[in-house]
Amino acid sequence: MHQETLCVHSGTYHDSATRGVNTPIFTSSSFEYMDRESCPYPRYFNTPNQAAVVNKMSSLESGEDGVLFSSGMAAMSTSVLAFAGSGDHVVLMDELYGGTHAFATDLFDRLGIRYSFAATDAEAVIKAITQSTKLIIIESPTNPLLGIIDIRRVTEFARARGITTIIDNTFATPVNQRPLTLGIDVVVHSGTKYMGGHSDICCGIAITSREYAGRILATARHLGGSLNAVSCYLLERSLKTLAIRVERQTQNAQRIAEFLDNHNFVKKVNYPGLPNFKGHSVARSQMTGFGAMLSFELNEDRVSAKTFQRRLRMIHPAVSLGGVETLICSPSETSHVKMSPEERQRVGISDSLLRLSVGIEHADDIIEDISQAMNQ
Ligand SMILES: *Cc1c(COP(=O)(O)O)cnc(C)c1O
Repeated sequence: MHQETLCVHSGTYHDSATRGVNTPIFTSSSFEYMDRESCPYPRYFNTPNQAAVVNKMSSLESGEDGVLFSSGMAAMSTSVLAFAGSGDHVVLMDELYGGTHAFATDLFDRLGIRYSFAATDAEAVIKAITQSTKLIIIESPTNPLLGIIDIRRVTEFARARGITTIIDNTFATPVNQRPLTLGIDVVVHSGTKYMGGHSDICCGIAITSREYAGRILATARHLGGSLNAVSCYLLERSLKTLAIRVERQTQNAQRIAEFLDNHNFVKKVNYPGLPNFKGHSVARSQMTGFGAMLSFELNEDRVSAKTFQRRLRMIHPAVSLGGVETLICSPSETSHVKMSPEERQRVGISDSLLRLSVGIEHADDIIEDISQAMNQ
């Protein structure tokens, strides 16, 4: 079946008593245990509402099983700790989501995990591998520069050496990229973004094989970051429209990227769907769509990033991404504020860089708002 169909139908819990078409919300934290093989318990990650979301996302990501968490970072940190421990070496990309980057730099030393950072480039990642590397963590496209890494190249090399690979697929979503089909072992999402899609739930998920899901689950039961039934239900409801939301958002992003690329107040546009973008051909080979995130650098002689954001009427300057509404943010003031100005300059995040999370509004209205804020 196609993604749109799986979004609607897969995973639903059919209640034989009422025959309702939707999964009921099971609020129990206590379940009877006699005469059954396994007893549900919220922190055992095995309630019907958790299972419904896991099953839907597993089918969308072409995975076998997974674990649903109370945040994207819970999904990432638990998955990492399931595959790396004291004495192991981990290779990470230095353009990873800030929270994942900080998790490594703040906690790995204490846990005895050794690590190296590599650029957004398959050869750089491969070069950083040592004899004791057990895990590689990558992200594509990256935040906020939309860097693309050749996923197949990394996974072919890692598989041959028995190294586990994790990708953060939050930006692409399974609608635009299915990393398990490219050889990745574990796909992690911040469900707070596109999966939830309405800027009102915090959650995360890891999707993988049955065997690896068992390993993540065993660690997850110790760490405990499980998701409550009401949020599970909201998430399952949101996922029914994931494909049509992301398809529209992706179409809008392409139009807006082209508009910005031709605007003389804009110095540079980062969007994988632009043919002149560095990662375009690799993106084309591994993504089914180029996604709905883009970033651009304003020509500060014409308009400053601050002035531009203040003039916007419909688009909110706000953190986070992936919702139905278009959001803009200045990475140097939000996600990358802790990085030194020199470090930001080194990786290419200038003060005039703005990141756009394109929503499902009509593209003309988004472009109209951007236009009036440039030219006012
Ligand atoms: C937001 C985000 C996360 C962290 O997710 P939370 O739900 O905030 O814990 C991880 N990776 C990416 C790419 C994100 O955008």
